[in-house]
Amino acid sequence: MTDATDTIFAVASGAGQAAVTVLRVSGQGAGAVLDRICRRRPAPRFAALRTLRDHDGDVLDRALVLWIPGPGTYTGEDSVELFLHGGSAVQHSVATALIEAGARPAEAGEFSRRAFLNGRMDLLEAEAVADLIAAESDAQRRQALRQLDGALGSVYADWTVRLTRLLAQQEALIDFPEDDLPPATEAAMLAEIGKVRSEIAAHLDDGRRGERLREGLVIAITGAPNVGKSTLINALAGREVAIVSPQAGTTRDVLEARVVIGGVPVTLLDTAGLRETADDVEAEGVRRARMRAASADLVVALYDGGGSVVVSPDNGNRVLRVTNKADLGVRHQGADAEVSALTGLGMASLKERLAQEVKRLVDSAGPPPLTRARHRAGLIDSASALENALSAELPELRGEALRQAVRRIGRVTGRVGTEAVLDAVFRQFCIGK
Ligand code: GDP
Repeated sequence: MTDATDTIFAVASGAGQAAVTVLRVSGQGAGAVLDRICRRRPAPRFAALRTLRDHDGDVLDRALVLWIPGPGTYTGEDSVELFLHGGSAVQHSVATALIEAGARPAEAGEFSRRAFLNGRMDLLEAEAVADLIAAESDAQRRQALRQLDGALGSVYADWTVRLTRLLAQQEALIDFPEDDLPPATEAAMLAEIGKVRSEIAAHLDDGRRGERLREGLVIAITGAPNVGKSTLINALAGREVAIVSPQAGTTRDVLEARVVIGGVPVTLLDTAGLRETADDVEAEGVRRARMRAASADLVVALYDGGGSVVVSPDNGNRVLRVTNKADLGVRHQGADAEVSALTGLGMASLKERLAQEVKRLVDSAGPPPLTRARHRAGLIDSASALENALSAELPELRGEALRQAVRRIGRVTGRVGTEAVLDAVFRQFCIGK
């Protein structure tokens, strides 16, 4: 854990050559740091063109400067934003001047960590910022924005408030047993505990929609050698990904392509392309690819009229039966789609069909779905604590179980944060966020 009283800075814009580089400074010393490199501090929240100088008075750049006093800032602290001319020399010289002026480079996620510590956002919102930055598709962007606007947090906050109220009632019951609560009240308490528990269970039973969308889906293409798996992957990816070979069982590299289907990032895997190898590192890669295929969200079983339909891995997930080589007149009863991966025949409707399947897997109506295994683990613990509360014979035990249920939800939102949880969350951030 680094000192939260330091003034920190980082490049907030992307890496590489650009017209403008944005440097962000945050901390209680941000104003003083700005005064050291710029002679006149602009009026709060008004952009002004200023000449930046080092402590010898050498000109570093002419830049647009924003002075934003806290607490109405991203981090909640006094902040400065410098819009410099792009280019590494300018960036380097201004960074050096900032260090001379008393600031230090930020660590990964430090801006968001401060925002969290200063109460500007809860952990779910902080994670949503990371997801928004990493979003590759529209559906992911929308999900992250929904989480960022606090919709998910308010679901958890509602449970927390209700459970805390129950806990208070329970404590009253323990502290003042002589004021026996009427049995009706105890029954009402148990009913409310049961209600929260089933709401959490319903939230957990979401088919992993939010996590799937966040991580992207995996579609495994299965089928006998030479049915056209590689050709299909190429046709779906719109580029040469797989090595197509007319020889059955030809050894190939791991066949994997990342595409966007129905607004969702999808990895297409050809498991048959995975070869046995003596190379340890490669074998590990193959093992992992097989595991991912085994847990694929959707299996496309390709068939070309010869031999039998191969659905492997058959993981109990949805299977789409697709007949290939329709240009050769191959037809198959009961096929979900008939295509020619080579000529493109029927590919448009197969893509449409895949988009529907993908949407079905990630779409959710109602409250926003949970997006991370971390949330899932917390809620499972909380639900099982509530289970204990319901079956507890002693008031003390019920109180303890309720307390645990609240604490576990609190760790998801960060309201009961431990250093370990915070580290795990903020480590995934890039520097400058
Ligand atoms: P894989 O072993 O399942 O990956 O099959 P490939 O994609 O390597 O294809 C095997 C052979 O079938 C290649 O010669 C392809 O050009 C051919 N092929 C694939 N799809 C079609 C198709 O739709 N029509 C025809 N006529 N040939 C195809």
